[in-house]
Amino acid sequence: MKWRLSIAVDKPPKTWHNVPQKSLIMIIFVEASLKEIFKLKEKFPWPRPKKCPKCNTFRVWKHGFDFASFDGFSSSLVIRRFRCPDCGGVIRMRPAGYFSRFQASISTIRSSIKTKLYKCRWLCNISRTRQRHWYNALKRRVKAWFGESPHKDMLAAFDFFVLKGLTPVSRSL
Ligand SMILES: [Zn+2]
Repeated sequence: MKWRLSIAVDKPPKTWHNVPQKSLIMIIFVEASLKEIFKLKEKFPWPRPKKCPKCNTFRVWKHGFDFASFDGFSSSLVIRRFRCPDCGGVIRMRPAGYFSRFQASISTIRSSIKTKLYKCRWLCNISRTRQRHWYNALKRRVKAWFGESPHKDMLAAFDFFVLKGLTPVSRSL
């Protein structure tokens, strides 16, 4: 099995003074099949991070599991956690293509926002309430980072936040 690890640190850069600093949350995104994770539960072979992303120590320990819901699965998936014994940081694994704490895939959320921006409607297969939450959260984040911004730049802003390793539609800024 092939893994692609990418690390996102849920913290805005220091230069953004208007954005409150958040505590460091270490999330490692792993190319992994949701179906396999669902099927194997605790036995799913999550790769052990080679080092702690925070302090670079070369050993991290298994640290139990998180349970996370995903669209299309009737019950929670079991997601491995690791902990760094040196700095105490907890490292959470996340399937690539999904934001931390979001059940819908990144591409579904992006598609919802795009449809709202360009066609002035919501996607029909997902509840409007959820889509409205995503849209409003993105709007708030765009305003906090860039000030007032032209309507259609919101999709570019979405991609910008994703590239920065931030969740564009999370409620906390
Ligand atoms: Zn550490």
